Order: sequence, then C-alpha cells, then structure tokens
Amino acid sequence: MSSSQSKRVSIDHLESLVQAALLRAGMAPENVGPVAATIVACERDGVKSHGILRLPGFVHSLQLGWADGRSRPAITGQTASLVSIDAANGFAQVALDFARPRLLEMAEAAGVAVLLTKNSHHFAALWPDIEPFASRGLVALTCVNSKKRMAAWGGGRPVTGTNAIAFATPRPGHPPLVWDQSSSVLSQGDVLLAANEGRAVPAGIGCDAKGQPTTSPSEILDGGALLPFGGSKGASLAVMVEILAAALTGGRFGFEDQSPPGPATTSFGGQFLLLINPGRVQSGFDERVSALVAAILDAGASRLPGDRRYRQRQISAVDGIVLDAAAHALLLRLAGR
Ligand code: NDP
Repeated sequence: MSSSQSKRVSIDHLESLVQAALLRAGMAPENVGPVAATIVACERDGVKSHGILRLPGFVHSLQLGWADGRSRPAITGQTASLVSIDAANGFAQVALDFARPRLLEMAEAAGVAVLLTKNSHHFAALWPDIEPFASRGLVALTCVNSKKRMAAWGGGRPVTGTNAIAFATPRPGHPPLVWDQSSSVLSQGDVLLAANEGRAVPAGIGCDAKGQPTTSPSEILDGGALLPFGGSKGASLAVMVEILAAALTGGRFGFEDQSPPGPATTSFGGQFLLLINPGRVQSGFDERVSALVAAILDAGASRLPGDRRYRQRQISAVDGIVLDAAAHALLLRLAGR
C-alpha cells in the first residue's frame, strides 16, 4: 500500500466520519446509527460496491430532500406475526432498527415474524439487515425493490429494480451462512464502480437506451437497462420482489419511480423481511444444516457465501480498513473535515 494512494483507518474512525457526513447532510442524530453502521460494515467486509461509494447517494438524496433523514418510522398495522411500518420517506435501516424488538418478540412467541416496510429508501447491501438475526438463531429472508433499472422477461427497457434478495441461516459452531444478491447479472454498484474507473463491463450485463447490448457502463446507467441474471429466472425473482416489497407493503413499484435524475440517488420503495425461529419446530435443524454444509464442502465447494466477507472482517479488525485516495478524500469532504 502506498500512503499517497491509499489510507488506513480504524473501523471506529470510519464510523465517526460516515456519521459526521450524514449529520452534515441533515440526518437526525437518532437516525444516523443504522445507516452509518451499514456503510461501515460493507467497507469492513470488503464490499466496496456498497461502502463509501454509496455515501454520496445518501448525502445527495438527503440534501435534495428526496429522502427525509429526520422522519421517524411508524407502525401502521400489527398482528401476532406481522408488523407493517411506514418509513415516512426515511431509510429502511432506520425502520428495521425501530421494528427489531417487535420482530424478535414475535419470532419468539409465534415462531415467525414478518416485516413489511413501505415508503423507505434502501441503497445498501442487504446482508447487514439479516446477518444479526441469524447470529441470534433465526432463519432470515429479506428483499427490497429499487427504482427501475432492469429489463424483465426479454424486454429492452427498465421496468423493475435490480431487486436484491438475501438469505441467512444460523450454522452451528460457525458464523451464519449468508447470501445476498441482486436479480441483475451485475449490481448497479458494480456498474458505477466500472464507470468511475473508466472500465467497460463484460458483455451480457446490460443494454443501452435503444435496448441494444452494450459494454459501456455509462450507456447502461444513462437511460439503458441492466439485464436479469439467468435470463427469465432472474426476471421472475425481480417481479416476486416487486410483489413482496411493494405490492404487499403498499410501497412504490420500481416502474413508478419519481426520483430526481442522476444515478446517485437512493431508491424509494419497500422492504420485506421474514424471520423463522427454528427453535419452534422439531426438525433437528442444527444437525440438518451442518449435514447440508458438510455435503456441499465435501462435493468440492471452495467456499460458502459470506466466507469472503468474514475473512476480510477479521483482517479489518486487526489492520483497519484501507480506503483508496479518492474514497478517503470524498469521505473527508462529505464529513466537512
Ligand atoms: P455478488 O454477485 O457479488 O455476490 C452474490 C452472493 O454470492 C454473495 O452472497 C457472495 O458471497 C456469493 N458468492 C460469490 N462468489 C461466490 C463463490 N465463489 N462461492 C460461494 N459464494 C459466492 O452480489 P451482487 O453483485 O448480485 O449484489 C451485490 C450487492 O448489491 C448485494 O449486497 C445486494 O444487496 C446489493 N444490491 C442492493 C440493492 C438495493 O436496492 N439496495 C439492489 C441490488 C443489489 P460473498 O459476499 O462472500 O462474496
């Protein structure tokens, strides 16, 4: 690492700078924690596409008033196993943090808890939302819809978001097994990274505004569309997410997006989250998960989803987090330092 090119910062220092940037952009102090924690967790775990790279989008949305950093989430409905939240144009992480105690109570009492959040901005990775639940012994599934960026079922224009889905399960004696993926071949964050670095993306990632295949990140971002992974299969998952995270929550569909122009504004949509308490069923869950993972590793899998992040997390805990010069300068500017 050359010090002129990159900077090593501690996790705590990074968190204080990200919090300062969000506060400076107008977020209320009581809302800053969950959003900053998500951004920092991504940098800590080596998920650069959703770390500091995303901060300008959060800041921009707050400064424009597109997202409301001062509103507080409110419960709009509750049953024994389901809670509906209106995020009031704030961030989904704040709504989830607000709902967390109720979700844990419901998962304990009813064995199942469902969160339906509407009127929320996400713009981050999903695994930070669910890994903590799996660490507490719960199976967790979540998805968010985002603004229209992806074509569906062979179409050439964006209609759904690149709707992400994440799953986490407790794994006896190990950190949870967690996967988290967009329904597009490449996430918009990775296309943004390529655009920033002046790189082309591989063929098959997206199309331009005329629906023609392109490897230019700017043509994809500027009126074009990302393509679903696995063709019709990824499109089907994205549509499922629109149903769970928008139709069911009462939130806005990707195609109804009214966000200000430019790629760096947060998506306004909804979030679906399901928790299942394996302690409430008699399935020998722990042993069954262990047996499955053993079989997968025995069959030659080089690693499990989440392993890369966990490895990087251990390194970051000891060595701190390396930010490239541009990311560090951006962070200082946004934090007003
Ligand atoms: P990736 O393709 O980078 O990774 C998808 C999953 O596959 C990860 O869980 C990853 O685990 C796992 N994985 C990758 N390679 C292997 C391997 N060799 N063996 C086992 N597992 C592997 O993710 P995407 O580009 O699809 O998505 C990136 C992020 O974008 C996600 O966090 C998603 O939530 C976010 N996103 C957010 C949206 C929003 O609106 N908020 C919209 C769309 C995407 P590992 O982490 O360990 O590498």
